[in-house]
Amino acid sequence: MRIFKSIKLIFIITLLIGISFSIANAKQKVYHWKLAMTWSKNLPPFSSTVYKFVNDVKLMSNGKLIIKVYSKNQTKSPFGIFDMVKNDKYQMGHTASYYYKSKNPSTVFFTTIPFGMTAPEQWGWFYYGNGMKYMEEVYNKYNIMAFPGGATGNQMGGWFKKPINSLKDLKGLKMRIPGLAGEVMSKLGVKVTNIAPGKLYNALKSGSIDALEWVGPGMDISMGFQKIAKYYYTGWHEPATSLSYFINKKEWDKLPLYLKAILKDAMKANAFDMYVQNYDMNARAWKKMKKQYPQIQIRTFSRTILDAMKKADDEVLAEYASKDPMFKQILQDQRKYLKMVREWTKMSDFLYLKSNMYNQE
Ligand code: CA
Repeated sequence: MRIFKSIKLIFIITLLIGISFSIANAKQKVYHWKLAMTWSKNLPPFSSTVYKFVNDVKLMSNGKLIIKVYSKNQTKSPFGIFDMVKNDKYQMGHTASYYYKSKNPSTVFFTTIPFGMTAPEQWGWFYYGNGMKYMEEVYNKYNIMAFPGGATGNQMGGWFKKPINSLKDLKGLKMRIPGLAGEVMSKLGVKVTNIAPGKLYNALKSGSIDALEWVGPGMDISMGFQKIAKYYYTGWHEPATSLSYFINKKEWDKLPLYLKAILKDAMKANAFDMYVQNYDMNARAWKKMKKQYPQIQIRTFSRTILDAMKKADDEVLAEYASKDPMFKQILQDQRKYLKMVREWTKMSDFLYLKSNMYNQE
């Protein structure tokens, strides 16, 4: 009898705890946020990761934080994410930090820089080095909290209609290549242009540009560049390319701790997911591309060309650093971290790949 009494008591207590939890849950405020992204609705792995992120947040918060996504076609302002989040028009955004170089040159460090860190190296810097600390410092004055928001990993150097055998071949070449890499190419005599993604295919086809870079096979294949240009150069300019989540600081401060924790973990998990998704997309797309367009040649720029690019890159970075103390400080910190972390990359992945040729037919 006593056992039955105890079981009954445990049952009642469990029921009461359950009821009080659901009352507490029902009492918790529901937050409705709007997220503006630079991308169209269907641009995997960028848009797909954002949709997965908002769904994760909804499930993990038990419906207490609902985020509605607005694509570039809805906001009509793909590169206005910075201002729209800053001014609280949208509580949140997903974009690439380096698009806002003209507002603050230090924003480039949170995306990628030529000859810089790879994605895993950059994650080390973000999460366990000084990366996120600097990210907060740079964005704080704009009323924005910024977080790593996924990475493409190493990007391809681009599609070229003619081979680039010497520095002479770069002179007068018309190429779409944005950001710091564009400034580097410009120093080497390239006529750099930036063209909206939707117009790139026709620009390359008609000859109004001779070359362009986009991302890698996974995202390039649907753009169709493989049908027009035969030389596909390996990367030097965007070794990591992290995207970013922006959150309006006042809205962030209004959230209870548990929702902040959910957001942080969901952003981090989906940052990793984007990298993995793109790795898989690249591998599958390249297999398909190679079969359909066997004329494509994978090329790597010569040592002479890469040395000239590196020299120009150092000059570009030094110019920014001389004008901006924060830029200088972050550059020095990244270089210090890269020096340390690259030793390990060389000992581990690099030498592993170099010595293990068994799966590299
Ligand atoms: Ca790119």
